[in-house]
Amino acid sequence: MFYGATFKLNFFINKIELLLSSGIWKLPEMRKEEIKALNKQFSKADTEEVLSYFLSEFKGRIALSSSLGAEDQVLTDLVMQIDPEVKIFTLDTGRMFPENYDLIDKTNQTYHMKMDVFFPDYEKVENMVSEKGINLFYDSIENRKFCCHIRKIEPLKRALSGLDIWICGLRSDQSVTRINTRLLEWDEANGLLKLNPLVDWTHEQVWNYIREKKVPYNKLHDKGFLSIGCQPCTRAIQPGEDVRAGRWWWEQPESKECGLHNRPVT
Ligand code: SF4
Repeated sequence: MFYGATFKLNFFINKIELLLSSGIWKLPEMRKEEIKALNKQFSKADTEEVLSYFLSEFKGRIALSSSLGAEDQVLTDLVMQIDPEVKIFTLDTGRMFPENYDLIDKTNQTYHMKMDVFFPDYEKVENMVSEKGINLFYDSIENRKFCCHIRKIEPLKRALSGLDIWICGLRSDQSVTRINTRLLEWDEANGLLKLNPLVDWTHEQVWNYIREKKVPYNKLHDKGFLSIGCQPCTRAIQPGEDVRAGRWWWEQPESKECGLHNRPVT
């Protein structure tokens, strides 16, 4: 009798643990309402005000994720003025342009900071390359997503571990996959909040800020690269082309996300 009750209790606890680990519990109605309320509260606020609130409210549990593109450099400049101790990280996939490494150095020197750099698991990269080839991403969308998973998604999960919110440089007019981006979102895939302070900024605003404040930027932008990604998967674009047209240019626009920014629940 006692054993049966203990078994049932353990079974129940196991079920709860399973739900917790699956992430199903993570967006209760209350959290959705909070996100909506904060989006409303900050709908007219300027970017500094938004960043000041979230950097203070989530101090020690918030980080800026930088892909070393123009938007992330603007955000680096803004957050360093508000909280110079905030964590800023980037992912080194092992297939980056040399300009990215130069910019990491320059940014660290300019702001007297140390950007955290996360790398992929070398054994997983070795197995992937051995099984599918060094340039597997050109063979299929499935291969491309697999490579992004090993080189980007897994390191990102380590970078986000222990955080409650991450800051990203997404803008809603960057591509068809980003039209519905909101200021504050629930990132279902990673189980934390995502803040997009530049969501309503235009391309011109970003570059006006960079020029005006003399923010260090990625020299790839001077060579026609609008969106910064891995070397084999990114090309310069022509005037008038979509900002992300140079990313995985052999794929359809709808599939052009690497999994770092899948559409979240808002
Ligand atoms: S962008 Fe290309 S090289 Fe970089 S992780 Fe994705 S598939 Fe791999």
